[in-house]
Amino acid sequence: MSLSLSWSIKRVNTKFEFKIARNAFSHYDRLILELRDDQHLAYGEAAPNVRYEAGPEAIIAMLESKKSQILELPIDDAESRQEALEKMFPESYAAQAAIDTLFWDLHAKRQNKPLWQIFGAREDMVISSYTIGISDLSAIPAKIVEAAPYPILKIKLGTDYDHDIIRAIRAETDKVLRVDVNEGWKTIDEAMRGTEWLIEENVEFLEQPMPALQLDDIAKLREFSPIPIVADEDSVRPEDLKGLVGAYDGINIKLMKCGGLTNARKMIELSQKYEFDIMMGCMLETSIGISALAQLGSFARWLDLDGNVLIADDPYLGVGNVGGKIILNDKPGLGVEPR
Ligand SMILES: [Mg+2]
Repeated sequence: MSLSLSWSIKRVNTKFEFKIARNAFSHYDRLILELRDDQHLAYGEAAPNVRYEAGPEAIIAMLESKKSQILELPIDDAESRQEALEKMFPESYAAQAAIDTLFWDLHAKRQNKPLWQIFGAREDMVISSYTIGISDLSAIPAKIVEAAPYPILKIKLGTDYDHDIIRAIRAETDKVLRVDVNEGWKTIDEAMRGTEWLIEENVEFLEQPMPALQLDDIAKLREFSPIPIVADEDSVRPEDLKGLVGAYDGINIKLMKCGGLTNARKMIELSQKYEFDIMMGCMLETSIGISALAQLGSFARWLDLDGNVLIADDPYLGVGNVGGKIILNDKPGLGVEPR
């Protein structure tokens, strides 16, 4: 059956400006891929993150030059496909993720099964958090109102007014908080002071408190901290995990970092081996990317799959999110369609 591949950029706007310790955006360009055979249409998304790689235009240039190779990739042999993708797109994890997702979607659609069933995942998963980006303190009450349906909040810190942010949030709500510093605390002293202060604030875990690769410092912080420490910028690819033993309690798996569902599954397996708690997260992604990782959601202890609900104009419909509960559907593949 002959395949055809096409792509387009979709600009999505966020409900609020999305600001973290390194940058701020109010819209994102997402690269949507479509793969067709005679009967099926499969989807994939590249949401390249500026910390890790160039933007969608760079990926389009790569796709144009590699189109025929992509169409020859094996549909049913994910391992060798991933190996080929890593050679074809060594500089773009998002491109790898988009193409890997396309092929998994097609593979499942040809079997007429939801992908989560093929993965041996369960329908049921833990409640996802809802992210509160960095903002002026005056904007916090409105964000807490917007977050009303969500019982778990993930708070972005790593500013010089972190205490004020937490105080402003605690003035509005006593919900469970997860804190993501996005590498913002640069020294062990700063990290210890920040952690010590958060112990009293009902924080469930602390994500990437210090810059990636400062593993000796993070190991010291972990010994000191009663709050579990989760790697994000330090936990990019499957091969990173071994080096994180002793420094982190958990790892955050994201499709746009690891290169897709095939590697996400590998990271799940390695987490079991190295005894890491698994978190699954996302970039600001449409329902294509979020629905893709949700197919593995039941393997996670913590979920942060809120990218699509932070977007005001998501062009796709996929998994549901009701108060942070991610709802898979029984449609074949990712269960995604245009809105
Ligand atoms: Mg993070």
